[in-house]
Amino acid sequence: MASFTLQGIPVSRGITIGRAHLLRPAALDVEHYLVAQEEVESEVLRLQSAIAQVHKELQTIWADLPPDAPTELGAFLDVHALILSDPMISEAPLEVIRIRNYNAEWALVTQIEALSAQFDEIEDDYLRERKADIQQVAERILKVLMGSAQHLPHQASDDERPANLIVVARDISPADMMQFRNVAFTGFVTDEGGPNSHTAIVSRSLGIPAVVGLGNASELIEQDDWLIIDSDAGVVVVAPPSIVIDYYRDRQAVLLKARKKLNRLKKTPAITQDGIEISLLANIELPQDAAAALEAGAVGVGLFRSEFLFMGRTGHEHVLPTEEEQFAAYRDAVLAMKGRPVTIRTLDVGADKPLDTTDHNILNPALGLRAIRYCLQEPQLFLTQLRAILRASVFGPVHILVPMLTHSFEIDQTLEMIEKAKQELRAENIKFDDKILVGAMIEVPAAALSLPMFVKKLDFLSIGTNDLIQYTLAIDRADHEVAHLYSDIHPAILQLLHMTVSAGEKAGIPVAICGGMAGDVRLTRLLIGMGFRELSMPAALLPEIKQAILNTHIESCQPHIKKILRSFDPAVIHDELSQLGMAGVTLQ
Ligand code: PEP
Ligand code: MG
Repeated sequence: MASFTLQGIPVSRGITIGRAHLLRPAALDVEHYLVAQEEVESEVLRLQSAIAQVHKELQTIWADLPPDAPTELGAFLDVHALILSDPMISEAPLEVIRIRNYNAEWALVTQIEALSAQFDEIEDDYLRERKADIQQVAERILKVLMGSAQHLPHQASDDERPANLIVVARDISPADMMQFRNVAFTGFVTDEGGPNSHTAIVSRSLGIPAVVGLGNASELIEQDDWLIIDSDAGVVVVAPPSIVIDYYRDRQAVLLKARKKLNRLKKTPAITQDGIEISLLANIELPQDAAAALEAGAVGVGLFRSEFLFMGRTGHEHVLPTEEEQFAAYRDAVLAMKGRPVTIRTLDVGADKPLDTTDHNILNPALGLRAIRYCLQEPQLFLTQLRAILRASVFGPVHILVPMLTHSFEIDQTLEMIEKAKQELRAENIKFDDKILVGAMIEVPAAALSLPMFVKKLDFLSIGTNDLIQYTLAIDRADHEVAHLYSDIHPAILQLLHMTVSAGEKAGIPVAICGGMAGDVRLTRLLIGMGFRELSMPAALLPEIKQAILNTHIESCQPHIKKILRSFDPAVIHDELSQLGMAGVTLQ
């Protein structure tokens, strides 16, 4: 077979070599037949039982989640459970059976096709990934109906494992990803998915090489084909000649050695060659992630994405975590960090992180009732969270970080709510740190363009570059169709970053970055050269960033940085970045 190469969206790190294991979706060309009138109710029952069985399957997967499972998985499973419970899936097809006498499979597929057509008509690119979720849930029901469980290779013992297996699929549901953990898969290749799709997020958490958004890879690749995934480049080589395999094996060995070496830097402080110390912090999603943060040498938690405590709650008594539950989670994270600061971000739900299917603007969720907007509309929920955070602040340094702040009145209302939570605790004689620092995420362009409003009232700022880029460039961060337009080095982004760090410097308040740019080693010199002294990132990326800092002399970077910040010519920006020693930044 002739070798060929596919280019997709890189979403994870590293290289893997193995054989393709194709996952075929359940055949959507199901049997079509009409059921006799007297059999209609038993056909309805057949579909209801299949749905109930899928519910059980999801619950079992949920209950079997190993303690070290990526924190996002519980949330993803819940999204599928919510879809399954939605009347569009759990009731509408039953009506199709009753009204049209369709068999159960046909009724389900008819409904899914109608739903898909509706998604297509709305023409909202963001919804594409939700559409995939609905299809995954439908496929699960069909598999039960057709009595055909997804074929997975059994857990092979070492001596019978001839090669690593790489999953090749149209798309992979989070629930399936969970099952794959127990099988010897070492890579993921999918036709669909954007940089923030489920496969992307989970493979990053698992540290497994993956490329998504490949278009029709699952049709071009055949079962057992040899594959190489070069995750950093987003490249999949199909049926490579042995000389190419040898080349990648060598690169793989070099990468592995480099990673081991980096781990030795754990206790070394991140100080540049001209003596400037940079605080490298970790982003966490659950308190148990604090261990990995310490292991990577983080000097604190720069972003605790508290919304993950609010998702993944199937099987819990309360739909929302109680004050006690939240308090315990925040306290555990604070205690685990042993005196290092923990920045807890208040609830950031909405957009790609719905709390449930009804509470966000389905037409344009990224611009809808998200984050602080949601919290200010749900004061009791917000107050409960603030009380829990305040109570945790007696166990170590805690900072409160507020997402999506845009308006001056939102800042005021947030500060009033914090004051109210403090007053309540005082009245109840409950201790907390009265001087707790409160900061704003700068992630809406309007915030970056009205910084005096923020620096006057807040103790620190932290830039959420993922959203700042999404909103400034009007690029949905979860949509692979516009992923090529997502650029961290667009002059507009660089100007906003520079304005923010300069405003913080002038006002004497710290400005961190906690979005994806902080963990991109190609940008480290640029960011610290601009003046950033705090970077917060996934723990796994921290050692690499530290090494870049140790190898940097900030003063000698300045001429390049000045040129970059004065230029609105992408070619000049790219050229100067290369000269900073960061060749490889893709020009957009
Ligand atoms: C960001 O927007 O950059 C950020 C850190 O927050 P999240 O990715 O959770 O939206
Ligand atoms: Mg954000």
